[in-house]
Amino acid sequence: MSIATINPFDNKVVKTFEEMTPETVNSAITQAEDTFKTWRTQPFSRRTEILHRVAQIMRERSDDLSKLITLEMGKLYAQSQGEIALSADIVDYYATNGEQFLADEQLKPEFGEAYIKKSPIGVLLGVEPWNFPFYQVARFAAPNIMIGNVVLVKHASNVPQCAQALEDIFLEAGAPKGLYTNLFISGTHVSNYIADERIKGVSLTGSELAGASLAAAAGKALKKSVLELGGSDAFIVLEDADIDQAVAWAVIGRMNNTGQCCVAAKRFIVVEAVADEFLAKFKAKLTGLKVGDPMDSTTELGPLSSEGAAVQLADQVQRSVDAGAKVILGGKRIDRPGAFMEVTILTDIKPGMAAYHEELFGPVASFYRVKDESHAIRLANDSPFGLGGTVFTANKERGKKVATMIDTGMVFINHPTWTQPDLPFGGTKRSGYGRELSALGVEEFVNKKLIRFS
Ligand code: NDP
Repeated sequence: MSIATINPFDNKVVKTFEEMTPETVNSAITQAEDTFKTWRTQPFSRRTEILHRVAQIMRERSDDLSKLITLEMGKLYAQSQGEIALSADIVDYYATNGEQFLADEQLKPEFGEAYIKKSPIGVLLGVEPWNFPFYQVARFAAPNIMIGNVVLVKHASNVPQCAQALEDIFLEAGAPKGLYTNLFISGTHVSNYIADERIKGVSLTGSELAGASLAAAAGKALKKSVLELGGSDAFIVLEDADIDQAVAWAVIGRMNNTGQCCVAAKRFIVVEAVADEFLAKFKAKLTGLKVGDPMDSTTELGPLSSEGAAVQLADQVQRSVDAGAKVILGGKRIDRPGAFMEVTILTDIKPGMAAYHEELFGPVASFYRVKDESHAIRLANDSPFGLGGTVFTANKERGKKVATMIDTGMVFINHPTWTQPDLPFGGTKRSGYGRELSALGVEEFVNKKLIRFS
């Protein structure tokens, strides 16, 4: 029963799925490899046509698909609709722009003439998480299908109906069988398939543990991997910032998807001069959110994705409090059925505490008061993660200077770290390596072949 829809609103099991046998997975890989042989020869116009149709179906079914997301992982329904719209935009963007990203690149060598030809590499395996069941897949599948690769997708075990819906959409859009294949296998079995020589590359979005396991198997098999793991993004507020604007974005940055974003603002680092004002306003905005059914449009705080996620988050908060952190808002599970956790603000966090070092994947904000800009940068960088980050300041040039000093893959000035179809996404340090989206993402699983002639 490990692959199942369990509604986190009431923790009831809705539907279970059988894990695929190794024989079924083997046939799926064979089919994918066969499809690659013809897919790589298809003109861009054919790839574009299928992807645009995929995006169109997503938009036409937005209501049903959004309900599936909300049912399986508890996202507020309006946000599920936003996810479907974003996923369709991503698919369209690579359908429209993919050919231009993949154009030959002329070189100017000292001797002879040369260019780079970008070719697909074959069957790829994407291991995807539950937090954005459509968006995470869209950003892996769309660029790669446009390149001419074919994809196997092993989705998170708690979103099987979203996983199946994605494969169904590709088939309905006219994709040949094997272009996009959903694999019902559990995370613990993924490594068994990495060594299969028909699989040419692997990409994972998820936890450090899963990433390390997949990367170890890929390294052993000498295969390229891309990892997009967790983050503990700093949200720095300098003394010249517009505090009301910073607070408004801080709430969205922390609370979007009930706090379960790899690039959520997690550590609020505010300089002394404005710390009291920021904290008072931030707390006021996070107090009294309406808790309830994520399908209900008036609900402001839904459940986490699963009971396990809520138990883990409450434990991280408790361990931090036991070690001396202070709770100024929330701090506990909500006393009702379902995977609910109170919106929480922790202060007085010190090195050695769980909240200082670990990723808090849910509605828990860590607040730090710092002396000045350089103290803020030092604290922002004192993290095992290096995904995104934010700086709020009235001075754009100052913001850019601070951004260059932060050791992450992305920094946004006067905005929480975000995603859009045409900007690269990815991190450094324990947040992983490689990029998704934009030209950088497109080139991860491409053979950039040198062709030289005299
Ligand atoms: P996991 O990393 O366990 O799940 C993500 C994906 O990896 C799922 O498809 C999962 O499959 C798969 N997986 C799990 N173990 C392995 C493995 N050993 N080898 C290969 N694939 C594996 O995340 P969780 O759901 O457990 O969430 C735990 C934490 O991970 C969160 O608190 C957060 O810190 C981080 N996370 C980060 C995300 C991001 O967007 N960067 C998204 C989700 C989680 P299965 O579901 O079958 O176990």
